[in-house]
Amino acid sequence: MKVLVAVKWVVDANVKVGVKSDGTGIDIANVKMSINPFDEIAVEEAVRLKEAGLATEIIAVSAGVMQVQETLRTALAIGADRAILIESNEILQPLAVAKLLKALVDKEQPQLVILGKQSIDDDSNQTGQMLAAIANLPQATFASKITIADGEATVVREVDGGAETLSLKLPAVVTTDLRLNEPRYVTLPNIMKAKKKPLETVTPDDFGVDVTPRLRTLKVAEPPARSAGVKVADVKVLVEKLKTEAKVI
Ligand code: AMP
Repeated sequence: MKVLVAVKWVVDANVKVGVKSDGTGIDIANVKMSINPFDEIAVEEAVRLKEAGLATEIIAVSAGVMQVQETLRTALAIGADRAILIESNEILQPLAVAKLLKALVDKEQPQLVILGKQSIDDDSNQTGQMLAAIANLPQATFASKITIADGEATVVREVDGGAETLSLKLPAVVTTDLRLNEPRYVTLPNIMKAKKKPLETVTPDDFGVDVTPRLRTLKVAEPPARSAGVKVADVKVLVEKLKTEAKVI
């Protein structure tokens, strides 16, 4: 079983980003970038499927500027076999990425495509769903457990207030949630080995995909600062204030 895993290069989760002074976006100049955490989980899951003898080959794919290769090297160090960089200097919105992944699905014919449930930079939570729609594949989003047997994937999904179990006929698209697994620590020997693994570069034009952005950002602003709280002497005063000032009870 061939597994395709989509990995995005995003601002590291520990970096506190700021809004550009002209309000056109987030300032990411010179900030640390990393593999999107949900995508790291996706690669880890693919590697576990390979270790269990269920996957035969893992292909990591990332779309973006040349430097996103770094995230592919991380995926290769976790255990992916080869990588594909879809190089583009455009701002790639979820629909464009989904179209590029669809083209790759047509070319590579994977049995399973694993994506993160969302990128932590734009929080879109759209790419996996769009890919499943345009590739006409069954999908299970927010996976917390994946079992593969008899040409089917059984996926436990995180839903409001509980878990839902779905059975999907392969090929299928699955997106990862946090509880799916805990990614392994990438060791130095594996980082060295990853440098020798194949990394192919293609462009959207090779697939005939138009990646022109469809959405226009009008404004990006910091959330309003929270006003300071007040200390109250006792519960009686609290209840009084909730009634007369906050008017919530
Ligand atoms: P999003 O819809 O932007 O929240 O992203 C959901 C998932 O789609 C991510 O966790 C990745 O697995 C995948 N994805 C989004 N953008 C890219 C990209 N530029 N390159 C590779 N994978 C991506």
